[in-house]
Amino acid sequence: MKKDDCIFCKIANGEIPTNSIYEDERFRVILDMSPATKGHALILPKEHFANIYELPEDWAADVMVLAKKMATMMTEKLGCDGFNLVQNNNECAGQTVFHFHYHLIPRYIGDNQKIQWNPTSPTADELKEVHSILTK
Ligand code: 5GP
Ligand code: ZN
Repeated sequence: MKKDDCIFCKIANGEIPTNSIYEDERFRVILDMSPATKGHALILPKEHFANIYELPEDWAADVMVLAKKMATMMTEKLGCDGFNLVQNNNECAGQTVFHFHYHLIPRYIGDNQKIQWNPTSPTADELKEVHSILTK
């Protein structure tokens, strides 16, 4: 299903022109309009899923296979030195467009970009508590 007021539904389905670098039955891959680095691209499903929670498992499997293919192809063609796959869900995690997308970010030595968090220092007990929540 598409969502009427969703810009990524329109872009993914070719209703708004964009720099598309790959397309198949389920996905379109486009260049990000404000790229972190040269070649920064987005995998967009052609159906509307707001985030990872809504993405069906078979689409999730397909998107990972496609991400691997794109990363390989883009690394060969762009000559980048590394690669980040980034996927944000909900506003607090940095999502700004609420249609699932996977960022493909080529990295270059000295590109001066950061995809980072501040590491924290939980105690062993705190880690145990999280472990227990997640394995109950
Ligand atoms: P998010 O922050 O939701 O993970 O990422 C949204 C990304 O979509 C941003 O990197 C932003 O630059 C990109 N973006 C937002 N609107 C458009 C658009 O209309 N066209 C393209 N090509 N990229 C977009
Ligand atoms: Zn959408």
